[in-house]
Amino acid sequence: MISPAISSKLPWVGTTIFSVMSALARQNKAINLSQGFPDFPCDPQLTEYVARAMRDGFNQYAPMPGLPTLCEEISQLVKAMYGYSYDPATEITVTSGASEALYCAITAIVRDGDEVIVLEPAYDLYLPAIELAGGIPVRYALNPPDYRINWAHLKKLINPNTRAILINTPHNPTGTILEASDLSELAAIVRDTGLFIISDEVYEHIIFDGKVHQSIACYPELVGRSFIVSSFGKSLHTTGWKVGYCLAPPQLTAELRKVHQFVGFSTSTPFQQGIAWYLQNHRDKIQGISAFYQQKRDLFLKLMEGSRFRPIPSSGTYFQLMSYAAISDETELAFSKRLTTEYGVACIPVSVFYRHGSENQVVRFCFAKEDETLQKAAEKLQKI
Ligand code: PMP
Ligand code: GLN
Repeated sequence: MISPAISSKLPWVGTTIFSVMSALARQNKAINLSQGFPDFPCDPQLTEYVARAMRDGFNQYAPMPGLPTLCEEISQLVKAMYGYSYDPATEITVTSGASEALYCAITAIVRDGDEVIVLEPAYDLYLPAIELAGGIPVRYALNPPDYRINWAHLKKLINPNTRAILINTPHNPTGTILEASDLSELAAIVRDTGLFIISDEVYEHIIFDGKVHQSIACYPELVGRSFIVSSFGKSLHTTGWKVGYCLAPPQLTAELRKVHQFVGFSTSTPFQQGIAWYLQNHRDKIQGISAFYQQKRDLFLKLMEGSRFRPIPSSGTYFQLMSYAAISDETELAFSKRLTTEYGVACIPVSVFYRHGSENQVVRFCFAKEDETLQKAAEKLQKI
């Protein structure tokens, strides 16, 4: 008998850092500020709606593109936030998390040898998804402390093989955001090209200090070439439900759905129905989560004052970067592991978001936690 030998399609990929650090946190009973998820419950009204959906029989396959009622609510939410009206029938697709939307968008447009410009540090799904589609990620590394994009530099990366630019604002892991001027630069760069934009906006509702999220949906000129990806995991404190969506013009949506229908066909029906009811009655609550998370960010920063960690400003997301340059010259991974095993607080090394690592002595803490959790974590971090 001959056993098949598998030759990895992703030889350089290990287990995602989020699984690794959360497992290490569990083993060491450490406070888990690594993987991004809230340790507090979502609105009980939302769970009640989902439970009611199950009781009322919303338990069979949803339509492949998403429940029409949820697509309608998403359309209205986006219109209220950014002024652009996406057609629920032809331009909105509900997916199993933003992850699936990103994967489908990338798979739909990237062919063998196509280049996709990706900004590093990059969320860990982007590069493998591009490579599985046969594409070549062209990485542009941004650096602390401000991680700003030099658009003239980015423009130089574009060549006839470039198929798309992937952006993420507010940005995981840095907490930086794109300003209106960035979007104008982007618009100018792509204006005379056939480039697509994939815009990961999962933290669109978590933005601080009076700043305004610059969605692609605010820029009609860019809408026609863009896939916008978002996630109810972030905006409703329900990361485990894995309900996300993609906004894109009809021709792009049609191609995305060709992939989506064979990746998972459709997304969990009772969650879709429950979220739709919630949006019908409580849409304003989503719009209020920036203030909620800003209070958490500020509390965490206050609790960390006087420690040897130095914060790098966070303008959005529920992540706070901290430099540990005053504490250790270990690699970020080694430091993150030691913080977890010796000091009882888990974090994420930022270096893993760069293909070839990039050691800046910076780690990421998730502050989507009860105030008490943040207090306990800061007490431990203050001792270092
Ligand atoms: N993009 C970014 C930047 C993220 O932080 C996440 C986090 N989970 C995702 C995509 C995936 O979202 P989801 O859990 O809805 O798949
Ligand atoms: N987006 C989350 C983070 O950055 C993790 C998502 C996941 O575990 N796949 O921590």
